[in-house]
Amino acid sequence: MARPGKIVCVGRNYREHAKELGNDVPTAPLLFLKPPSAVIAPGVPIVRPAVSQRVDFEGEVGIVIGATLCKATPEQCAAGIRGVVALNDVTARDLQKSDGQWSRAKGFDTFCPIGPEWVGVPPLDAITVVTRVNGEEKQRGSTADLVFPIPGLLSYISHIMTLEPGDVVATGTPAGVGPLQAGDIVEIELVGYSTVRNPVESQA
Ligand code: ZN
Repeated sequence: MARPGKIVCVGRNYREHAKELGNDVPTAPLLFLKPPSAVIAPGVPIVRPAVSQRVDFEGEVGIVIGATLCKATPEQCAAGIRGVVALNDVTARDLQKSDGQWSRAKGFDTFCPIGPEWVGVPPLDAITVVTRVNGEEKQRGSTADLVFPIPGLLSYISHIMTLEPGDVVATGTPAGVGPLQAGDIVEIELVGYSTVRNPVESQA
């Protein structure tokens, strides 16, 4: 798909994932941004930067915005969705912890693989996301389990920053995150909608 104008992400939006990293479940969506320059297409290698010892996959449901949403209601936001994409919120976990904020850990080049866009609005509370590394299942979640369901999440974001056509909202990752090594193949599947599969390399 075309490069998004911005990528808005939400942290700790599945209870079990918040727990596995020792974090509380937030009382309001915990937002951060990934730079559009991090986006890569299926098949393009994810490059592990030399400064990180721990690069994790995070399989996520990506929502593609189809309308201008400014201070919009959840209903307006649901109607303003253009499609969905499989998205890998690749994260340098050690740098995320040491930096105290997440721009570097989440923002390296190649850290945002995005799959082909499925155009339409699927049942927003019943999208299944599966992550496999070298064919082995590592994560399986459903948007039924989101702490902040998609329409309300989009509305919350739209009261902070205007969502514009082509923007992508990454809705958080379920439990089961883990590391990627050079030579791995990592695949995120939104079952029935979109898949993104990428090899992993170490920085030369
Ligand atoms: Zn994430």
